[in-house]
Amino acid sequence: MAYFIDEGTIEEIKDRADIVSVISDYVDLKKVGANHKGLCPFHGEKTPSFTVSSSKGIYKCFGCGEGGNVINFVMKIENLSFPEACKKLGDTFGIKIESKGSYDEKEKKVYLREPE
Ligand SMILES: [Zn+2]
Repeated sequence: MAYFIDEGTIEEIKDRADIVSVISDYVDLKKVGANHKGLCPFHGEKTPSFTVSSSKGIYKCFGCGEGGNVINFVMKIENLSFPEACKKLGDTFGIKIESKGSYDEKEKKVYLREPE
């Protein structure tokens, strides 16, 4: 069962969770011009092609094509679902996660209750 996170909350996470500081916990990033670069955590490489743009709030690897926003990064690296990644970032940055309830993909129904 998926868990619905309020869209305003998602925007707030993208706004407040600094992508460079989040990714720095996993990747040694160096500032190159306006961006940060490091060795991609998603594929083996010796020359950094993993680029993080703090102004755009996105990351992109030009080696394996992996890319996305701060929430996508946490999902991928921690192997979390979207709402779990939102909660983790919310905890780190002190953002209250507003949820609309949970969404059952099979039943196509929204349940206004937190899943156990
Ligand atoms: Zn890569």
